[in-house]
Amino acid sequence: MKILIADDDAISRRLLVKTLQVAGYEVLAVPNGLVAVEHLCKQDGPRLALLDWEMPELDGPAVCREVRKKKDQGYVYMILLTSKGLKTDIVTGLGSGADDYLIKPFDSEELKARLRTGQRILHLEGRLVEARENMRFKATHDSLTSLFNRGVIVDLLGREISRSRRERVPTAILLCDVDHFKNINDTRGHLIGDEVLQEAARRLLLSVRSYDYVGRYGGEEFLIILNNCDPVSAPRRAEEIRKTLSDTLVQTSAGPLSVTMSMGVHQTQNWGVQTVEELLQQVDAAMYAAKAAGRNRISFTKPNTSEVAEHKQPAEPAQSLP
Ligand code: GH3
Ligand code: MG
Ligand code: MG
Ligand code: MG
Repeated sequence: MKILIADDDAISRRLLVKTLQVAGYEVLAVPNGLVAVEHLCKQDGPRLALLDWEMPELDGPAVCREVRKKKDQGYVYMILLTSKGLKTDIVTGLGSGADDYLIKPFDSEELKARLRTGQRILHLEGRLVEARENMRFKATHDSLTSLFNRGVIVDLLGREISRSRRERVPTAILLCDVDHFKNINDTRGHLIGDEVLQEAARRLLLSVRSYDYVGRYGGEEFLIILNNCDPVSAPRRAEEIRKTLSDTLVQTSAGPLSVTMSMGVHQTQNWGVQTVEELLQQVDAAMYAAKAAGRNRISFTKPNTSEVAEHKQPAEPAQSLP
């Protein structure tokens, strides 16, 4: 465990370094409060600190106050180590944000015991943060595919449309629906259907850039938002994404399967007044047009209208199971 020692007195700093290194800590020793704050406020800085009270630039309590102002990082457990032993000093020290207080000259066994307490608190905080992150992930991601869930992807769509309108940048929206997916469930079983969805999700995610969004919109439907995708590249990119599924058989535990999808595509730079819901209806209609035209193809919405225009008739056959 990494620990920061801040003490302006070289002799007592050396003594502390030695004591803590022998106790197995990775020690970072600094001679004043300003440098201490700098390290403690770094994202990957030490989370355990032993601070002298009187130091140039910033004293121990001021270091505590500065570190406590930072809210966007992990907790820092700080112990004030000082010869100030009055009750009022202890109250002031703890009031500045210190977690513990030790009076010099210190007993090394007591110091180590108090540091172990700090480590216990930090460990507990680590577990709480992990639990919170897990819950956050579960609340925002689909459990089968680990893609964004419907609520999140629709929310991202709303934000992306606002950004696109504001900054006048183009965006493309793709609604993908696996063709004849019910057949896979019916003939191979629901678990194989699940495997297909997982693989489809994986390929969709691999086929976009890191700043695009992919979400599971419904059972076998995926919504993709391509940020800054101009109207010229949108058809090409949509085709590439469609092909990531159709061009390579999906390996499942029931053997390889040929899987395709149909796609409704909306791309624009000049957003009309339509709401997210209206826009989704348009993309959905385009997707159904692609189904009606034979599946395994993409179909475009007409910008700012509810009409759809069929785009392309690829040579590939519609869904066929081996
Ligand atoms: P189309 O080409 O017209 O889209 O036909 P389809 O069979 O793909 O569409 P349909 O809407 O008839 O069937 C979708 C099926 O997807 C029905 C539903 O039971 C199944 N499904 C939805 N969610 C899941 C899931 O999480 N796992 C599995 N295995 N199946 C699912
Ligand atoms: Mg001092
Ligand atoms: Mg569907
Ligand atoms: Mg389908």
